[in-house]
Amino acid sequence: IIKIEHLKKNFGKNEVLRDIDLSVDKGEVVTIIGSSGSGKSTLLRCINLLEKPSGGQILYRGKSILDPNYDLPAYRAHMGMVFQQFNLFSNMNVLENCIVGQVTVLKKSHEEAKKKAIENLKKVDMERYIDAKPSQLSGGQKQRVAIGRALAMDPDVMLFDEPTSALDPEMVGEVLKTMKNLAGTGLTMVVVTHEMEFARDVSDRVIFMDEGVIAESGTPEDIFGSPKCERTKEFLHRIL
Ligand code: ATP
Ligand code: MG
Repeated sequence: IIKIEHLKKNFGKNEVLRDIDLSVDKGEVVTIIGSSGSGKSTLLRCINLLEKPSGGQILYRGKSILDPNYDLPAYRAHMGMVFQQFNLFSNMNVLENCIVGQVTVLKKSHEEAKKKAIENLKKVDMERYIDAKPSQLSGGQKQRVAIGRALAMDPDVMLFDEPTSALDPEMVGEVLKTMKNLAGTGLTMVVVTHEMEFARDVSDRVIFMDEGVIAESGTPEDIFGSPKCERTKEFLHRIL
């Protein structure tokens, strides 16, 4: 569904992504692991064009999203994004948070959007909190609302950038469980994470990034069981 070819991104002289090739198939769960500064967030941000690539190609359903004539707003609406910081609208309650994008971007009626919002808040087990303001929720609950809100947009692909790393340890589990459930529904997911257990148990493929390149990629069994690249071994040794 997404095909990345020879992707490059520089910030000035800093080459943050160097020749990245990566395909994501429909229904696949791909996790991206690697040290701080290796370019993981930049890669995700290039995929949804929050950053403009310096070179290379990104194809979505066979078409280049970098083509000047490409319908970017439509493309962005197909990419759900969940950040480390939940980015909920603090002046709106949970339900409104999950409605507003559908009405403004997808031009749905309020009634339709509300139905979809509730449906997706159920998936993240937050339908009991529809009237709550974000300030009344725990970090884990906020993140589950952020996931529900992204899902309500009916994304083709969900991108997660360290969705649990801003959470208190006791709340990490509930968010990972929610994500694991979603993975089981056939949703296409690209997940940057430091949660190795999640990467091992949930992903179809694990990508290890190092200094702007994909140093190694494979099944969880390959990467965690018998990593081939020295840098992967070092990384896993350091954090496991
Ligand atoms: P972490 O695990 O800490 O989140 P990461 O793998 O996500 O790290 P990136 O955030 O992609 O790494 O950053 C990779 C490099 O790009 C870093 O050296 C960072 O300083 C640089 N960088 C990222 N965003 C920008 C920006 N907007 N302007 C300039 N440099 C940037
Ligand atoms: Mg990052």
